[in-house]
Amino acid sequence: MVEKYSDCLFCGGTVEEQLIHREFRWQGQLFIFEDVPIGVCSQCGEKVIKPKVAKALDRIVQAKKKPKKTIKVPVYSYEPNGD
Ligand SMILES: [Zn+2]
Repeated sequence: MVEKYSDCLFCGGTVEEQLIHREFRWQGQLFIFEDVPIGVCSQCGEKVIKPKVAKALDRIVQAKKKPKKTIKVPVYSYEPNGD
């Protein structure tokens, strides 16, 4: 089901729903959701998430559902260029 979004709060552009990745942090842990329906402004790229979609993500994480898959994420410390 495609949700309606109001025009972008920032630039007034049209916001259209797309299925995109969404990072989510809870209790210091990072979770990634795939194919989340999120409104994306066609002009500035601002993302808008519906409250019910955000709640659904909360619920999945808090229920500690078994993830579809688990990936390892490399973490680096920032190092300035030597030059
Ligand atoms: Zn915009």
